[in-house]
Amino acid sequence: MVEQIPVRNPRTGQFDDFITPPTPEQLKAHAERLRQAQRDWWHAGLAERITALQQWREILLARKQELASVLAVDTGRWPESVLEVEVVISSIERWCRLAPSLLVEREPAHTSIPFIELKSQLVPYPLVGVISPWNFPLLLSTMDAIPALLAGCAVLVKPSEVTPRFIRPLNETVASVPLLRDVFGFVQGAGETGAALIQLIDLVCFTGSVETGHIVGEAAARRFIPAFLELGGKDPAVVLESADLELATSAILWGSVVNAGQSCLSIERIYVAETIFDRFVEKLVDKATRVQLAYPSYQDGRIGPIIDVHQADIIAAHLRDAVEKGATIHCGGSIEQLGGGLWCRPTVLTNVNHSMKVMTEETFGPLMPVMPFSTVQQAIDLANDTIYGLSAAVFGSEQDALTVAQKLEAGAISINDAALTSVMHEGEKHSFKRSGLGGSRMGPASIMRFLRKKALIIKTEPVVDPWWFEELKTQSIS
Ligand code: ADP
Repeated sequence: MVEQIPVRNPRTGQFDDFITPPTPEQLKAHAERLRQAQRDWWHAGLAERITALQQWREILLARKQELASVLAVDTGRWPESVLEVEVVISSIERWCRLAPSLLVEREPAHTSIPFIELKSQLVPYPLVGVISPWNFPLLLSTMDAIPALLAGCAVLVKPSEVTPRFIRPLNETVASVPLLRDVFGFVQGAGETGAALIQLIDLVCFTGSVETGHIVGEAAARRFIPAFLELGGKDPAVVLESADLELATSAILWGSVVNAGQSCLSIERIYVAETIFDRFVEKLVDKATRVQLAYPSYQDGRIGPIIDVHQADIIAAHLRDAVEKGATIHCGGSIEQLGGGLWCRPTVLTNVNHSMKVMTEETFGPLMPVMPFSTVQQAIDLANDTIYGLSAAVFGSEQDALTVAQKLEAGAISINDAALTSVMHEGEKHSFKRSGLGGSRMGPASIMRFLRKKALIIKTEPVVDPWWFEELKTQSIS
């Protein structure tokens, strides 16, 4: 008997929904159906796949508002829910436009050996598994699925058990597209279902915590399948003396508090040149205190609730640890219970250092600890003093900022802005250190992760074998 999993509403704190995970047999049968259908999907060709995805995009466009509304129930916030749907719709459009120029198989061509020609073939991994988190449920369930489907794979997505409601309308949109519905499936469940899924797929894309990412990586290694992992971050912002303070404070505030800080690429620690430190903090606090909670209604402010109750505990623990070790809180600074939900206002801290969790562990909340530096090298050392390496931001004159950016150990560096990878998916990047593993999830390389390259090596003349042995070569090739 499979147990139902209750689902909490982040605005009310009530468990007002539930999901039912599949039995192991049901999961296996689902994966098998997708695997069977994948052959036709692949052999139908790219043009057919593009047509199917464009049909899906049209349906998403028509049901945009409804999808955003369900996502808002899952996550408790409105603007980011609308943004998620919009980014997914434009991502389908972008991949459909790019795929024909990327998925090119090489026609027979001459090689360095006169009687050998080379042709290439791209072979998709049959069944891709996507395991996604709760912070951007729709976006992170589809970001890898869209290029994988265009590459010719079938895809089975397991979203987070914390935010599963959006799958119902999403599944309906997929179900109305013939061909696509046979190769794009969703399965509800928690970690156990995710672990079982890994046993049934040929490649896994995982977005989530470092801890679970390591478990997923190990499970994939045992099955000898590729794992693409995008894990946590502790993104630094470095503000150089040459920075535009107005711009830097607004960008850093936005980069820290959007989605209530529940984003792997949000700014989680800030290093500011000591000569401009006081002015920076004053401006940041002034702007931070003007950002309101989206409570009691979605429209009342900009900051949504903490989505996952466990995350609220982590944020509170980081705040407690910082205060105990001497940090000063300038605004915000606590988890508030409002209407049954858990909320955290934008929080600026100073007198912080790297003995504190708030500077070293992923907080995933709207916390902005600010620390001064006296030399640029010190700023670089502090920014790199971390187990994470997802992304970062640098503010200053373009040349100064680029020089620092090139020395930071992270996969994407925003210059004079923050968290640009949330809107700019065109730059190829890797996750450094423990923030991830595997090829670039962004840019043209992303789609190639789902394909294996085959070389078809054709001998075009009846040259006697074995012509490749040095001692026989003159005799054979005459
Ligand atoms: P968070 O959602 O806080 O980022 P996790 O990294 O634990 O937390 O979860 C991300 C996704 O991984 C969720 O969909 C979750 O159900 C799934 N998951 C959790 N444990 C496992 C596991 N052992 N194997 C596969 N997936 C898992």
